[in-house]
Amino acid sequence: MARPKLIAIIGAGIAGLSAAKTLAEFGHSVAIFEKSRGLGGRLATKRVGDFAFDHGAQYFTVQKDSFKSIINDAIKAGYAAEWEANRFVGIPGMSSFARILLGQCDVHFGRTIQTIARKGDYWSLCDINGEQVDGFDAVILALPSPQIATILKNSSVKLDAIGALDYHPCWALMLAFNSGADFNAQTLTPDDPIIAWIAENSAKPNRATTHRTFVVHATPAWSVDHLEANAEDICKMLRSKFKEITEIKAEPTMVLAHRWRYARVIEPLGHAFVWDEKQCLGACGDWAIGSRIEDAFISGHMLAKTCFNER
Ligand SMILES: Cc1cc2nc3c(=O)[nH]c(=O)nc-3n(C[C@H](O)[C@H](O)[C@H](O)COP(=O)(O)OP(=O)(O)OC[C@H]3O[C@@H](n4cnc5c(N)ncnc54)[C@H](O)[C@@H]3O)c2cc1C
Repeated sequence: MARPKLIAIIGAGIAGLSAAKTLAEFGHSVAIFEKSRGLGGRLATKRVGDFAFDHGAQYFTVQKDSFKSIINDAIKAGYAAEWEANRFVGIPGMSSFARILLGQCDVHFGRTIQTIARKGDYWSLCDINGEQVDGFDAVILALPSPQIATILKNSSVKLDAIGALDYHPCWALMLAFNSGADFNAQTLTPDDPIIAWIAENSAKPNRATTHRTFVVHATPAWSVDHLEANAEDICKMLRSKFKEITEIKAEPTMVLAHRWRYARVIEPLGHAFVWDEKQCLGACGDWAIGSRIEDAFISGHMLAKTCFNER
């Protein structure tokens, strides 16, 4: 039997965590390096004072049995609940769902990996502060494809079959109201050139109900046109359109905007993952087969299952 491997995963989004979970089940050791301070990536929950907003992915749907069984585990563990028919959410916030995948894996938060280098039989990683970590048998890049391309370019490392795929950006608006924010629908997909989606965040299961909170997503075209605008101007423009669509005239107690530069891949790669056996280097993410949470889960799971099932 081959020895267990030490594998570095860059990115603690659903793809990276899904790969980590499967690798740990096969007896390998995993170290995850994540640039932010939390788990989940675009399956995100922003906390500002007493408020929390799911400003990235809104809900997840399930088609495949492997993902269904994870969702069932998450529901039993109190990390997820059904919101609407076949629309599940993390509780108390979307990012909580990521916890079911973590298990005993080590996550090194606040580590933005800039380069990777093969040194003899091992991989070495270097972060933006110049700190190095050595000794990995394999590296998995679990990031949006343009960010993978940047690390590979910085490192002068080639990974065939992976290109920088194009993404739609998305401006997200978060609003909180003390009162006077009557809204009869939980979600709305208006036929509008500016706003694509409105959800009452506080109407999801197990959310705080002291305030009514909303998440608004701008359309891809409008987000592209306003990609470099400042957040204050975005707040004004989206808030005004939100008011017109919802007829909520009350003044919000909090308004905040967030730009997702790589929100959804436009045309996925069409393979579940990328793996180079000679270099022991792989890549996974939603971009491989789709643009949804389940796609990210399947991509990470399939990479780990196909390339590391022997130890
Ligand atoms: C606005 C929006 C709405 C969406 N709505 C839905 C929805 O309703 N339903 C649905 O199923 N999907 C939705 N999605 C898509 C869904 O969020 C993604 O498909 C999924 O979360 C992608 O997971 P991932 O692991 O592939 O990538 P990510 O979640 O992007 O994870 C990558 C991780 O890598 C980290 N990282 C990046 N660079 C580095 C680096 N150099 N070093 C270390 N770490 C790094 C990032 O911080 C991040 O945590 C939405 C996405 C957005 C943005």
